[in-house]
Amino acid sequence: MKKHNFSAGPCILPEEVLQRASEAVINFNDDNLSLIEISHRSKPFVDVIEKARALALELLGLENKGYEALFLHGGASTQFLMTAYNLLNKKAAYLNTGTWSSKAIKEASLFGELIEVASSKDKNFNYIPKNFDIPNDVDYFHCTSNNTIYGTQMKSFPETSAPLICDMSSDIFSRQLDFSKFDLIYAGAQKNMGPAGATLVVVKKDILGKVERSIPSMLNYQIHIEKDSMFNTPSVFAVYVSMLTLQWLKDLGGISFIEKVNEKKSTLLYSEIDRNPLFKGVVSKEDRSHMNATFTLENDSLAKKFDTLWQEANINGLHGHRSVGGYRASMYNALPLYSVQALVDVMQELERQA
Ligand SMILES: *Cc1c(COP(=O)(O)O)cnc(C)c1O
Repeated sequence: MKKHNFSAGPCILPEEVLQRASEAVINFNDDNLSLIEISHRSKPFVDVIEKARALALELLGLENKGYEALFLHGGASTQFLMTAYNLLNKKAAYLNTGTWSSKAIKEASLFGELIEVASSKDKNFNYIPKNFDIPNDVDYFHCTSNNTIYGTQMKSFPETSAPLICDMSSDIFSRQLDFSKFDLIYAGAQKNMGPAGATLVVVKKDILGKVERSIPSMLNYQIHIEKDSMFNTPSVFAVYVSMLTLQWLKDLGGISFIEKVNEKKSTLLYSEIDRNPLFKGVVSKEDRSHMNATFTLENDSLAKKFDTLWQEANINGLHGHRSVGGYRASMYNALPLYSVQALVDVMQELERQA
């Protein structure tokens, strides 16, 4: 039986997507060739990447609004510097809500002056700072919508006249937002979309072309747009699986449908964390992530018993990130509600036995 997979990333993908992906590796489109041994410029693959790019814009509600969707290499970590390379002339503003924001700040500071408008580092990033000011004269404002490691999530985004850039690696396609408020969104595929190796970038074209420096081709959004995301060989497998996952999501009913499922899952788990006297949440309640729920035991002496129970219940990937400890249950789009129920059952079993 397939495990209940709470892994933070790479993470669970829909079963039917894995099935189709495995078939395509052997025989793609019934053409007696593997997906990963045909030219990326052949029509069958060009159709795949075009469809993936179109589905991304369609699901986000950004068709015909001046945006382009790109599938690039290098993970979200390359976007930390690529955003700055393409958009930072003098000054940019950053909100620091965790490890990934901090890394984005470190990379971008190579390119100009950075203003950290607020940080939650004082409390090990267990909340989202609010009521901060963004200066008017910055080239852009950057934030991280969901903090995968700490389990916090931005529920609203600041109004600013500066272009809004967001690392949505761990909650893209999980909840409905007005995505047209964002000028650039990026996400490594491996959290809610596909295998590692592809990075989705959705960029509003009119923010580009405003920096003075010359940009190496591989790091230049405009070149990737001109070349239809095929400047060099794309990660064909990761793009294909991402396309299948986006199609799966569309067939289910899109983001508005999956958002309801995700709310059910996170409500089920957080209610148990709050109810069960053996457990406690790690982050402030109003900032809790619907994707990554972090929690600890009230009494660490029960850790061994709890670990045995969830492992026996066929649960995978529950240990917290090494910088936080405790537990983290990642409930990405493809995780079924019954997997969350299996975890809640184990938490209640621990209560009975303790
Ligand atoms: C995982 C993650 C990253 C890093 O992604 P890579 O693709 O491994 O570079 C960046 N930001 C967030 C929010 C993440 O969850």
